[in-house]
Amino acid sequence: MKFDIVTIFPNLFQGFLNESLLARAQKKKLISIKTHDLRKWTQDRHKTVDGRPYGGGAGMILKIEPIYSAVRFLKSANHKSQITNHKQKVRTILLSPKGKTFTQKDARRLAKYKQLIFICGRYEGVDERVARHIADEEISIGNYVLFGGEVPAMVLVEAVSRLISGVIAKPESVKYESFSDKGATTKEYPQYTRPEVFITAGRKLRVPKIILSGDHKKIKEWREEQSK
Ligand code: SAH
Repeated sequence: MKFDIVTIFPNLFQGFLNESLLARAQKKKLISIKTHDLRKWTQDRHKTVDGRPYGGGAGMILKIEPIYSAVRFLKSANHKSQITNHKQKVRTILLSPKGKTFTQKDARRLAKYKQLIFICGRYEGVDERVARHIADEEISIGNYVLFGGEVPAMVLVEAVSRLISGVIAKPESVKYESFSDKGATTKEYPQYTRPEVFITAGRKLRVPKIILSGDHKKIKEWREEQSK
């Protein structure tokens, strides 16, 4: 799986991409994640990526031309290397608060592509022609507005990467967890670890007896019940 992230702030991703499981997954070549500075695809001396909105209004809008060139380049770069049936294996996603709200089901669906191209908006947003003619879909991470599409892109990278074989050492961990059912609605049962009793300010916080019982059938039933 190849992630290509188009952004005007590629540095925002540095720590995120270079620590922990994502760093390991890249080192093991299970995934590749590249950030691309949108300004690389500007034509003018000032490297202009935005413009004022037609019809008036506050803020600036990201222009279509550099985004178009970036996506075209990233698709063709990939095309040449390994991907044969191009269309079905690449998905271009615009991060946008007005898009469809992202769920675990979408993460599973997107994990099947070979390449995901993320377009991160900024300022007041992105010229609508990007949503209509360049992106295959528009995704929101929730009903609130952020400064830019970078954190939403990180959210998608994490959610999708965990589902790629080998990224998480134990496949069971992603098989049975919150939203892993078909309808993506079930939540995980409560989990505990040592100590059995945590004592604080005269209170004793105990682990439920049943999971200490060693009776695996009962534990399984209790977990299923709790999940519901
Ligand atoms: N004026 C826009 C908000 C722009 S926020 C509106 O009212 O809808 C600037 C950029 O941040 C957006 O273009 C988008 O790329 C990103 N963004 C902000 N909130 C987001 C969210 N909840 N989900 C996905 N992307 C978001």
